Amino acid sequence: MTTKGRRTQAVHGGTKRSQWGELSEAIFLTQGFAYDSAEQAEARFLGAGPDEYIYARYGNPTVAMFEERIALFEGAEDAFATASGMAAVNGALFSMLKAGDRVVSARALFGSCLYIVEEILPRFGIEVVLVDGADLDQWKEALASGAKAVFFESMSNPTLEMVDIEAVSTLAHAAGATVIVDNVFSTPVYSNAIAQGADVVVYSATKHIDGQGRALGGVILGSREFIRKTVEPYMKHTGGSMSPFTAWIMLKGIETMDLRVRAQSTSARAIAEAVTGHHKVTRVSYPGLVSHPQHELAQRQLGGAGGTMVAFEIEGGKEAAFRFCNALEIILISNNLGDAKSIATHPATTTHQRLSPEQRAGLGISDGLMRLSVGIEATEDLVSDILQALDAA
Ligand SMILES: *Cc1c(COP(=O)(O)O)cnc(C)c1O
Repeated sequence: MTTKGRRTQAVHGGTKRSQWGELSEAIFLTQGFAYDSAEQAEARFLGAGPDEYIYARYGNPTVAMFEERIALFEGAEDAFATASGMAAVNGALFSMLKAGDRVVSARALFGSCLYIVEEILPRFGIEVVLVDGADLDQWKEALASGAKAVFFESMSNPTLEMVDIEAVSTLAHAAGATVIVDNVFSTPVYSNAIAQGADVVVYSATKHIDGQGRALGGVILGSREFIRKTVEPYMKHTGGSMSPFTAWIMLKGIETMDLRVRAQSTSARAIAEAVTGHHKVTRVSYPGLVSHPQHELAQRQLGGAGGTMVAFEIEGGKEAAFRFCNALEIILISNNLGDAKSIATHPATTTHQRLSPEQRAGLGISDGLMRLSVGIEATEDLVSDILQALDAA
């Protein structure tokens, strides 16, 4: 089998054509499938082969196209598509865990991910240990007494701290743990997580995969064994499957994802450079800049790129940050990310509002911190929008 480049897989991977030979992928907007005979129905329920479907919660041709395309793009054996990114995180964890298991997780997580590991898993008798993801000694210590699973976001939200996938996976595997990486901020374009040691990679497809703000979706990627024997039975019976219409949106999203994400990263770097040293900016976090404390790791893990997100701190706390947001003319105030449209988020009052001031401080989320998701607009327009809004701050 020849391995094709990601951009080729993004456009052609997983395509299945009907008898009509349609150029663009078809949306099979059907819940069920009719059988030629009672015998065929019986055989299908005994064990469905490839391209044999029973019910859309179990699988659907459009969803299967999306799963195959994203698996080829990621370099994973298989994938299961889910209704949202959180359905993917929940599915990856709950499908493999049971009471008495131990999970070691990074503390700096997307709010809903933190809710699952901190609030829900312990309710089911699962011991959860939280560590500072960038500190390998903490991982080592927490993993010394073994674990069933390790969970972390490879680039944290919103401070863009990196977790070393390779080093943590080596420690986790020695402890007998399955490594589950939420790789949203690194994006599938810059991901090499499986080659770096991750066993399971999850994405919110809502972000860079759709990339155009239309639909919620998610995906769990891993070995065929894990996806089909562990994830699929859990997902198909608990109802978190992706809809065929969403799968079609995501299929079309993947086609342009590489082009979008590279353009977004180019602008993100330009913005990070433009705000560095600005008299109203006290701190800039961008993994592509040498000023990032883990720049070397970021270079290694992201193949020399810096990603599409930039975080920076404005002098003057919440008031100055709000003046900055309200002065933006092109960049929108929202909380999504990975979109073609650039988005500014004030984490302390929105995405991380639920945390106590002490928790926020511990995660480096000050009242002046802004998170930017950089879109595909003209780089110079974005830079000048930010600079004029900083003047107003
Ligand atoms: C958005 C996001 C999720 C959740 O995805 P949804 O599609 O909103 O359910 C999980 N993890 C990270 C890092 C995210 O950015």
